[in-house]
Amino acid sequence: MDIEGKKVLVVGLARTGVAVARFLVARGAKVTVTDMKDESELGEYLAQLADLDLDFELGRHDKHTFLMADLIVVSPGVPMDIAPLLLAKAQRRTVISEIELAAAYIKAPMVAITGTNGKTTTTTLTGEIFKACGLETFVGGNIGNPLIELVTSGRDVVQVVVELSSFQLEGIQRFRPKVAVLLNITEDHLDRYTSYQEYIDAKLRIFENQTAGDFAVLNVDDPLVAASAASIRAQIFPFSQRKELSEGIFCRNGIIIYCRQGRETRFDTATFRLKGVHNIDNIMAALASALLAGADPARARAAVESFAGLPHRMEFVREVGGVSYYEDSKGTNVGSVVKSLESFEKGITLIAGGKDKGGSYAPLTDLVRERVAHLILIGEAQERIRAELGSLTDTHLAATLEDAVALAHDLAKAGEVVLFSPACSSFDMFKNYAERGERFKALVHGLNGAGR
Ligand code: ADP
Repeated sequence: MDIEGKKVLVVGLARTGVAVARFLVARGAKVTVTDMKDESELGEYLAQLADLDLDFELGRHDKHTFLMADLIVVSPGVPMDIAPLLLAKAQRRTVISEIELAAAYIKAPMVAITGTNGKTTTTTLTGEIFKACGLETFVGGNIGNPLIELVTSGRDVVQVVVELSSFQLEGIQRFRPKVAVLLNITEDHLDRYTSYQEYIDAKLRIFENQTAGDFAVLNVDDPLVAASAASIRAQIFPFSQRKELSEGIFCRNGIIIYCRQGRETRFDTATFRLKGVHNIDNIMAALASALLAGADPARARAAVESFAGLPHRMEFVREVGGVSYYEDSKGTNVGSVVKSLESFEKGITLIAGGKDKGGSYAPLTDLVRERVAHLILIGEAQERIRAELGSLTDTHLAATLEDAVALAHDLAKAGEVVLFSPACSSFDMFKNYAERGERFKALVHGLNGAGR
C-alpha cells in the first residue's frame, strides 16, 4: 500500500486511532484525525500524538474532509454506516479498517478468528499454543491491542493470531488469513445492523480473499456456519461435537480427535481445566488452527492443559451457604447465555439485563422454563426481558446490581447456583463488561455466608 504523500483520514481516536496515526505519519502520509468526541474528552489520546505533525477535526465529522481524503482508515469502534462514510464510499473514496491497513504490512501467516461468541477465548488459547511451541507470536485485533501495533513495533514474529469483530471485517479489501475460523453465528449487535443478514454477511467476509492453499475452520454443528461452506474457496476443515469426521476435528466421549490426511491425534479433555460444552468448541477450533499451521501436538496438548480460561467468562466466584456464584459478565448476548445455562442442570438463579441490543430473548425460553428457578432482572432491558420470559419462572425486577445480588442471596438454596449472565451490554450502568463483572464479584465477596 503506497501511502507516502497521500491524504489519509483516521476516523476514531482511541488506542487504535493513535497507533494508526503514528504509523501513517511515520510513512509520510498527510494525516487528519477526526472524532465525534471533543478535545476535552480525548485528552489522554491527544497527548500521545502531541509530538506529531497532523490535523485534527474533533467534536464533529465534516463531510468535505471525508471527500478530500485519498484513504480513510476506520477504528473498530466506529460504525461503517455513519453518513460521512457512506457518502465517501458512494464517491469511491477508499474506506478500510485498521485490520486491512495493518495486514498489508504483515508477512507472517495469520490465524484469524471470528464468531458471535468465543472469539477472545479461542484467540488467546491459539496464541498460547503457538507460544508453547516456541514460535514468536503476536496476538491482537479485537482482543484489545490493535494489529497495527505489531507493524509499528518492528517485532519479527513468525505467527499472528487475530480476533476479528464483524465491524472490523466490514472494512477489509484484500485481508487474507492463512487460517480463518468461524466459531458460531447467533443474533447480536442488532442495534448496529439494519438486519441479521447484514451481520451474517459481515462475518462471512473473513473467507472472501482466501484461496485453495488456505484453511477455513468451521463449526459444522452451527447451521448458519455450515451453510457458508458452499461459497468458501479455502480448504474446509470442519469441527463438530455431534458427528465424527474423517477430515476435521471432533469430540467423542470426552476425547477430541484431530484427523488430517488419514492420521489421527487424540486429546483427552479430562485433563483440561477449561470447562463447559462451549469451550470444547473453542478448544477444537484453537487446536485445529494451530495444528494446521504446523504446531506440535504434544506441546499443543500441554498448552491447553495449562489454560484456565479468562476472567468474566463463566468465572467461579465463591460458595456462600452452599450456593455457588458464577460471574459471566461477558455473556453480552443471548447465544452466550444459552451456553452458560446449559452448563448447569437446574436450580439456577439467573441475574440478567443491562443495555438491550435489539435481539429476541426467545432462544432462552426452554432453558429458563426448565433450569431457572428465579430470574432477577436489572437495567434498561428489564421490562423487555420480563415481557418475553417473565411468565416462565419466578421473576423479579431489581433497581441495582446490589439489590439483585442481595435478592439472589435470599432466594437461592444450598446446592444451587447464582449465575450473573446478562444477555445485554453493560453501557447503561457501567463503563464496560469488566467493570460490571468486578462489581458483581465484589458484591458476592461481601455476602455473609452465616447470615442466611
Ligand atoms: P467473544 O470474544 O466472542 O465475546 P469470549 O471468549 O469473550 O467471546 O466469551 C464471551 C461469552 O460467550 C462468555 O459469556 C462465554 O462464556 C461465552 N462463550 C464462550 N465461548 C463460546 C462459544 N463457543 N459458544 C457460545 N458461547 C461462548
